[in-house]
Amino acid sequence: MTYDFDLFVIGAGSGGVRAARFAAGYGARVAVAESRYLGGTCVNVGCVPKKLLVYGAHFAEDFEQAQGFGWSLGDARFDWPTLIANKNREIARLNGIYRNLLLGSGVTLLEGHARLLDEHRVEFGGQRYSARHILLATGGWPHIPDIPGHEHAIGSNEAFFLEQLPKRVLVVGGGYIAVEFASIFHGLGAETSLLYRRELFLRGFDGAVRTHLRDELSKRGLDLQFNCDIERIDKQADGSLLAILQDGRRLATDCVFYATGRRPMLDNLGLENTGVELDERGFIKVDEQFQTSAPSILAIGDVIGRVQLTPVALAEGMAVARRLFKPEEYRPVDYQSIPTAVFSLPNIGTVGLSEEQAKAAGHQVKVYESRFRPMKLTLTDCQERTLMKLVVDADSDRVLGCHMVGPEAGEIIQGLAVALKAGATKRIFDETIGVHPTAAEEFVTMRAPITP
Ligand code: FAD
Ligand code: NDP
Repeated sequence: MTYDFDLFVIGAGSGGVRAARFAAGYGARVAVAESRYLGGTCVNVGCVPKKLLVYGAHFAEDFEQAQGFGWSLGDARFDWPTLIANKNREIARLNGIYRNLLLGSGVTLLEGHARLLDEHRVEFGGQRYSARHILLATGGWPHIPDIPGHEHAIGSNEAFFLEQLPKRVLVVGGGYIAVEFASIFHGLGAETSLLYRRELFLRGFDGAVRTHLRDELSKRGLDLQFNCDIERIDKQADGSLLAILQDGRRLATDCVFYATGRRPMLDNLGLENTGVELDERGFIKVDEQFQTSAPSILAIGDVIGRVQLTPVALAEGMAVARRLFKPEEYRPVDYQSIPTAVFSLPNIGTVGLSEEQAKAAGHQVKVYESRFRPMKLTLTDCQERTLMKLVVDADSDRVLGCHMVGPEAGEIIQGLAVALKAGATKRIFDETIGVHPTAAEEFVTMRAPITP
């Protein structure tokens, strides 16, 4: 049977674009359908605009600290509409780059919603296209719990387009997005509270990292409220909101921002016309090679709910393109030791196992920790402290995990991820000469374990 395309990709986000471009580069006839925005979540309502807002929020402390270095500034004022307009302009530029990348690699770009008709056919704009393989890369969507008054709350998609910076914000959740946006709102001057339902946020991260960040955020004046959740949100006559908590407290605010996870984007995708199955959490079920329960349909990225990070979606997209069209270069995606950063202020950077995970996996661990006031702050009143931590296997001396809370932690952790991937031991860390004077050099100068 002949098909219109060798590969039809649904979703031009991180994973879909990477798979489409690589497949086309290997000589395949490729189409990609995108219903919303080229570049997907990361470029439009995720990593990129988020990082721009974090940069914006960081200026507040830069201005304050500059005084210790002899600078005197007039009254610094912040204008949210300017930041959002400039951010939007940059995103539009990136959308154009994505368009050129796709067209330049010979991919047929279809802008609009695509829907599966069966396991080899897709409906798009009233037309039907057939394909030997179909790749689902439709990403995810913010999940807001269905509490009374949830329609008054916003998620991350809306937060990027608020017309004004709210005066008071309640951020609900304890994951990446909650912590990052609480830092953004607080840094830009909103009176911000973060509400998390359990004892301590960032479940799954190293315990020392979680408590260190908690203490640093509190020091900065960010209001952290753990063990609480919202029962109901009421809109007040003056347009403000009243959040009624499960413990009966009532918090007045101007914005309730939910960052309580993301669901797979399967809306009107036509999965019911195929044999594609979902897992118990509702994400698309795939095998190690990203094949769904329907042999001709594959899926990657956030929609399979493994690790919801752009570089992971990119790696999965590349693996699919190679497996289908350049099998001699196929390598499975390695999910071990994926480095990651939380762009809170201060940042978290982490790679490998937390102390708790290492112990649970049966390792005898040696833990090394360094806590210090960054040199840049010594001329300022800022009392922020940095945490660096190494988790080492006591038997083999292999470094199992590196963790940091402090300025540029995301930048610093990337190089350490290479070392971990290469199987570096603590001895290799010790034999590595530091770069002086930096914070990063602490990672190669921690000599005495804090554990026996
Ligand atoms: P997406 O990028 O979501 O792309 C899916 C695309 O499919 C979308 O463009 C959508 O419009 C399109 N689509 C859906 N259904 C259809 C259909 N039926 N027809 C046509 N098109 C369709 N990750 C990091 O690594 N670092 C970060 O700093 C980071 N920050 C983040 C901040 C926020 C606020 C959020 C929400 C996420 C962040 N992420 C970050 C996660 C990252 O954005 C995702 O992991 C990544 O975008 C997933 O890529 P994807 O290709 O699976 O899906
Ligand atoms: P996460 O899964 O990271 O966190 C969700 C948080 O919401 C958890 O703290 C969870 O609590 C809480 N929660 C879930 N359901 C409810 C509920 N019904 N009521 C109250 N609280 C609830 O999701 P995010 O939305 O923060 O981010 C989605 C993903 O996007 C991340 O996991 C990450 O992979 C990616 N991302 C990556 C970033 C980066 O790389 N810097 C930045 C932003 C996002 P509990 O702990 O109890 O489950």
